[in-house]
Amino acid sequence: MNNRAKTCIDPACWLPFTANRDFLQRPRLLQRAKGMYYQTPDGRPILDATAGLWCVNAGHCRSEIIDAITRQVQEMDFAPTFQMGHPLVFQLAQRLIGLMPASLQHVFFTNSGSESADTALKIARAYHHGRGEPQRTLFVGREKAYHGVGFGGLSVGGLPRNKAAFGPLLDSELLPHTLDQEHHRFTRGIPAWGDDPGIALDKIIQKYGSERIAAVIVEPVAGSAGVIVPPQNYLQQLRNACDKNGLLLIFDEVITGFGRLGTPFAAHYFAVTPDILTTAKGLTNAAVPMGAVFVSDNIYQSIMTNAQEGIELFHGYTYSGHPLACAAAMATLDIHEKEGLLTRGREIAPYFENALHSLRDLPLVTDIRNIGMMGAIEMQSLSEHIGARGMAALQKAFDRGLLIRNTADTIALSPPLIISEEEIDIAINIIRETLLSLA
Ligand code: PMP
Repeated sequence: MNNRAKTCIDPACWLPFTANRDFLQRPRLLQRAKGMYYQTPDGRPILDATAGLWCVNAGHCRSEIIDAITRQVQEMDFAPTFQMGHPLVFQLAQRLIGLMPASLQHVFFTNSGSESADTALKIARAYHHGRGEPQRTLFVGREKAYHGVGFGGLSVGGLPRNKAAFGPLLDSELLPHTLDQEHHRFTRGIPAWGDDPGIALDKIIQKYGSERIAAVIVEPVAGSAGVIVPPQNYLQQLRNACDKNGLLLIFDEVITGFGRLGTPFAAHYFAVTPDILTTAKGLTNAAVPMGAVFVSDNIYQSIMTNAQEGIELFHGYTYSGHPLACAAAMATLDIHEKEGLLTRGREIAPYFENALHSLRDLPLVTDIRNIGMMGAIEMQSLSEHIGARGMAALQKAFDRGLLIRNTADTIALSPPLIISEEEIDIAINIIRETLLSLA
């Protein structure tokens, strides 16, 4: 098996966000998956502490989803999306809207988190354009944010290395990030206090004028940068500042959606409703790619009313609302309903939190952060090579049968929401051994 796997690992395939040259020397391969576990080509079980890439929230290879996809591909493989529809996409939209805060009444389907971010930004501009304010083109993002890799999402993202090689982007400004390690190291859940983002937003507004700004976009909890939890009241303060200045507020809930925090969406957790909410990943349990952008009735009606005759928004994808993705999403929602997974995080999160924080006194650990079923363990970086410890941790945990994710020298955990207390213990013990072996 190993040989067969080895022979196909060559540079023909260029892996995304991967150190390809290193990978070819030492490939990490996954071939099967079921429930909480992956399996390598040589049959080694790997406990999945990251739900794939923050997405397989209901656990792997769920038979309900497999059956739904199989039935759908036999019934209708694809339907054109422009000027046509199919019943399932309307059923799915209805069901998803039922999960949303009341004002978000419309959904535009995409195929990924990146497409969702770009779609949200374009809808924000189209909204202002339609209302006679086409000069509102500037976006405000946040340091350390990740909104995918399209030129739109990249422009409002706050991870410098993601932007470095790609030249001019859209006009944007960044709010400061909210990682305050001086005061909030080892905070459990939401840090008690922090700066009001309205102050930083005011500075940006003073520079450009609020009449030039289209929207502010944030991940309610920044995931990719290493689970950065906003301080108490931060999102409400941001909502207030946007309202005061006529700016739209966009939440990127690609990670925080579908039960990750123990509520259906982070908007529920923080009791703050954005004007636009993007998601992807957990929507289909990652079995088929799909993203979605939820839009307030106000924005939708405005675009519908102000558009000329005919097509209201010149935007969309060949695979928007793909029948197989819709079938997977419907089956995923069935599982969530039946098993209460959208709120299970609330029950299991305290156990997860305690387990995570039991690592705090280990060598190399400089911070631990968590909220719902997301957690991060930050390690001291090697001054000569930032990220080396994180990569070593990924490899060593993998060798010990655990899938984690690393961002630089931070280990991020986001297990499937079906995880048991015993499995949390297994994961944390492997991380403990891994950290000790790195010290
Ligand atoms: N936004 C956020 C918050 C994400 O975490 C991600 C992916 N990790 C994306 C957008 C991009 O999603 P995709 O990789 O599906 O394009």
